[in-house]
Amino acid sequence: MSTPAPSGRLAPFSTTIFAEMTALAVATGSLNLGQGFPDTDGPAEVAEAAIAAIRAGENQYPPGPGVPSLRAAVTEHQRRCYGLDYDPDGEVLVTTGATEGIAAALLGLCEPGDEVVMFEPFYDSYPACVAMAGAVAKMVTLRAPDWSFDPEELAAAVSARTRLVLLNSPHNPTGKVFSPEELHAVAQICVEHDLVVVTDEVYEHLVYDGIHVPIASLGQMRDRTVSLSSAGKTFSFTGWKIGWACGPSQLVARVRAAKQFLTFATGTPFQHAVAAALDAGDRLIAPLRASLHERRDLLCDGLEALGLTVHRPSATYFATTDIASIGEDDALTFCRELPERCGVVAVPSSVFYRDPAPGRTLVRWAFCKRPEVLRDALGRLEVLAR
Ligand code: PMP
Ligand code: GLN
Repeated sequence: MSTPAPSGRLAPFSTTIFAEMTALAVATGSLNLGQGFPDTDGPAEVAEAAIAAIRAGENQYPPGPGVPSLRAAVTEHQRRCYGLDYDPDGEVLVTTGATEGIAAALLGLCEPGDEVVMFEPFYDSYPACVAMAGAVAKMVTLRAPDWSFDPEELAAAVSARTRLVLLNSPHNPTGKVFSPEELHAVAQICVEHDLVVVTDEVYEHLVYDGIHVPIASLGQMRDRTVSLSSAGKTFSFTGWKIGWACGPSQLVARVRAAKQFLTFATGTPFQHAVAAALDAGDRLIAPLRASLHERRDLLCDGLEALGLTVHRPSATYFATTDIASIGEDDALTFCRELPERCGVVAVPSSVFYRDPAPGRTLVRWAFCKRPEVLRDALGRLEVLAR
């Protein structure tokens, strides 16, 4: 049975591209390099911590802002990794994945008619949440090969109605890590126009080239920034949906006000497990990062050998290719036909642009899959090279 399309302000946002492509992978038995989830579990000790929490009776509603041990672990993580100080009571909020953090931040911080400046290609939930908040999205385009933006385009996107800038670094789908200079340019505009920044940093620990600088750590930015992250990508437990928001109490209070009526609270036992995972620090994260680094190169080298133009990502677990180099001219059509042609699923990055022109031939491939799956996929894709 097909799902009826939504009407009203959610009309443009029917089935997400990730759901569509994963359903296609399941229906055709294809290898799924589309939706970004690992095909192996995260560290056993973290899974054991969740099981132990369930056995210990941590199964009822937690406090709405999050269990104290996780808020303390997030506070310590921000201090240790970035020198950022937050009060676990009032400046840290646990969310149901970063997805809820994004929704609650936009609903809590925007009034109807406000404008939100964001970069395209964008993560798919951003424009949908802006629409739910009754706000208006204004796009600034990131351009290949380095996915930089024109500071004048950014300045032109800001108006008297602008409420906030929604940033995502490291960036999905491009794998870009915003440079300190680019972050300073964003920060300067925000200070000049008294704007809030909501920054999505779910890939903060999956960086292979360069370093991740949180915009909250720059100059006067801490007190106008809500930083979002999540355990899903860092620890390979995307199904647990444990995220968090950090920021000054007057901004976090608004995010919390929205969160209360979205989910009220977030899965208790998983919060305990993620607190233990964060406390373990880089011991758990470094091996995943090293292994993803190798898999990035395996996939990117293989795609290049097939004749695709590859934009090797500095971070995240996605590689972007331009299929124009193999004579293709439409990413959405290409991705819808790929399972039939090759038994592989990828995601058309064209859907992450409001103006599809700059992304028409861009395709995103996830490399958070086992090396043998990546090798199998590359073998299946060889027909494209002929
Ligand atoms: N932001 C970005 C940029 C993402 O790629 C994702 C997917 N992990 C999310 C937010 C959602 O994160 P979560 O699964 O924690 O809700
Ligand atoms: N963040 C994941 C991706 O970019 C997908 C998450 C989802 O399906 N909503 O592939």
